[in-house]
Amino acid sequence: MKTFITADQLIDGTGAAPLRNPVLELEGGRIRAVHNGSAGRPGPDAGELLEYPGATILPGLIDTHVHLNLPGTGPTLEEAMREGIEVMTATAMGSAAQALRAGITTVRDLGAFGTTSFAARRALDLGYGKGARIVACGAPITITGGHCWQMGGAADGIEGLRRKVRELCRDGADFIKVMGSGGGTVGTRSWKPSFTRDEMNAIVDEAHRNERRVTVHCLCGASISNAVAAGADQIEHANFLVDASGRQEYDPAVVDQIARAGIPVTTTLVVYVASVFHYRNKERLTPVEQAMVDKWCRRAEETLDYLDRMTRAGVRFVAGTDAGWRFTPFDALMLELEIMNKGSYATLDAITAATGDAADVIGAEDIGKLRPGHRADVLVVDGDPLADLDCLRDPLLILQDGQSQHITGRANLTPTAQAKPL
Ligand SMILES: [Zn+2]
Repeated sequence: MKTFITADQLIDGTGAAPLRNPVLELEGGRIRAVHNGSAGRPGPDAGELLEYPGATILPGLIDTHVHLNLPGTGPTLEEAMREGIEVMTATAMGSAAQALRAGITTVRDLGAFGTTSFAARRALDLGYGKGARIVACGAPITITGGHCWQMGGAADGIEGLRRKVRELCRDGADFIKVMGSGGGTVGTRSWKPSFTRDEMNAIVDEAHRNERRVTVHCLCGASISNAVAAGADQIEHANFLVDASGRQEYDPAVVDQIARAGIPVTTTLVVYVASVFHYRNKERLTPVEQAMVDKWCRRAEETLDYLDRMTRAGVRFVAGTDAGWRFTPFDALMLELEIMNKGSYATLDAITAATGDAADVIGAEDIGKLRPGHRADVLVVDGDPLADLDCLRDPLLILQDGQSQHITGRANLTPTAQAKPL
């Protein structure tokens, strides 16, 4: 049976101006057509008609950077990894469900323990439970003792790294994630590149030989340069840390390398803000906690400033939250878009960064845009998100593959997801 959805406007996810008085036609879990309202309303025999006056239709959202088997409720990586593979797999299912309830119909997992993200992806593909569709890399490739080494992706040397890429492909990796610098893992150095240039070149070459895209976690300028020079497809975070104190120095020459290569960068702004929210909600802060608040406030401000400067320099961004990491929940994407918008990112561009552009970057050809033949991943929200992105928190309807998902509404979002930017 066909379904027709009407609303005041439709944002198709390509970045095009909204279509007024649209009729979206769905059949068999796919989009059949996007009609201009002037074509007239479907007749009573045409199929099911869902009318949403005052509302906006848009594609289901895509979060391009999550960690499904971290809970996003506070535990450190080290704490979460101690729980074992069964708990981490179960956590991944819960995380995917939390995302879907908020209208995020696809997530890209950027690093999980062993094969847990493949297992969750398989369970959802089988229809065992509900959750955001999962695009997964398995364990991120890292140096011995490097960022997220506990996930099982450590390898060294050109031969070892080529073998690791091949193992991940064998086990079901949709793409390859590389930890190009240290990160939040205890004992790693965020301000230094992890791999030698030859090692990074070998990872990217082997991934491309296996027809997998590569995205690289980069918290320092040298790691970005290495990734760009190796021909990586995407950069995560793109921070510019220079030493152990957390100090950053924006590097226009490195930004120019990203822009000239045309490599997109994932934003992950909300991960810093979520940490600030957490500590600010506490009654009394210890000096150590106060120092954390100061550090994350500074990082949030700097990163937003860098987003503006990099955008002006010609770098393209896609939206990602780093959900799972510490205090970042899986329904925080709307807040991520609001933070982008608070910077220089236009409202429509922010939506495109979480729909059409996100789909392009992760290599998903049939989601993210409301086009004939695409999967019927559809949101209907109350109001006009171009006037105020807040209405993305009010989905009236969430469809994934044309299937209606249970709607729980804004009151069921986590406090972080309901919060406003700093
Ligand atoms: Zn991450």
